[in-house]
Amino acid sequence: MRQLIAGNWKMNGLRHTADAILDPLLAGLALDHGLACDLLVCPPATLLAWAAGRLQGSAVLLGGQDCSAGKEGAQTGDISAGMLRDAGAGWVILGHSERRAGHGETDGVVLAKVRAAVAEGLVAIVCVGETEEQRQSGQASAVVQSQLLGSLPADFDGVVAYEPVWAIGTGRTPTEEDVAAMHAHIRATLVSHLGQAGQTMRILYGGSVKPSNATALLALAEVGGALVGGASLDARDFLAIARAARQLPQNAAGARTPA
Ligand code: PEP
Repeated sequence: MRQLIAGNWKMNGLRHTADAILDPLLAGLALDHGLACDLLVCPPATLLAWAAGRLQGSAVLLGGQDCSAGKEGAQTGDISAGMLRDAGAGWVILGHSERRAGHGETDGVVLAKVRAAVAEGLVAIVCVGETEEQRQSGQASAVVQSQLLGSLPADFDGVVAYEPVWAIGTGRTPTEEDVAAMHAHIRATLVSHLGQAGQTMRILYGGSVKPSNATALLALAEVGGALVGGASLDARDFLAIARAARQLPQNAAGARTPA
């Protein structure tokens, strides 16, 4: 299995600015003759069909940033998993902290969305992570475990992203030791909750990943890739992060444990 580098564009992008990211990205990939990782971009829903056209014939994967738990009907403004699929997406980010905090999404809501996404054949990337206050009061592991147990169906077979809320968009990251420890904790929780599927599931790290820290973060044990926000809006930075990715061992995401 390969590491997954996923770009979350958030609420950024118009057609011409999307091209300013996708064109150099595709040109860089052509120069590299491919990459050692799986590469995913998640633009706003308005750009999915546009991006799908641009990415046609390339190995770059396409995803949405959220979906409704509902299939269709009277839910003004919502977008269903089937609509994402119809627009060209094969993946979807769910339970991002900006949705949990800004849109009141509980674990139960995220769970329902995951079920809806899986039912439409989308691969879900489910985000978990503690706030700064929760980390400082020693609750980080318990919070993350409870989010995993509450958000993932027992037959979940997608991807998990550990994103400490305080590291998102701040330029701050946990220490390598803290990332490795949390990823080990997530792995243990996934194995006990999901059995066999939990052993190999990719666990991404997200929160201020940049070219300057990508190599160190992606080399850590149990880090199965990165979820990248700000740096994914610059093709050169996103490519540099992707070039830092590595092949994962067959049975787990294990690699270097910090000294
Ligand atoms: C994110 O929004 O998922 C994220 C990790 O953002 P950033 O890389 O900008 O911290």
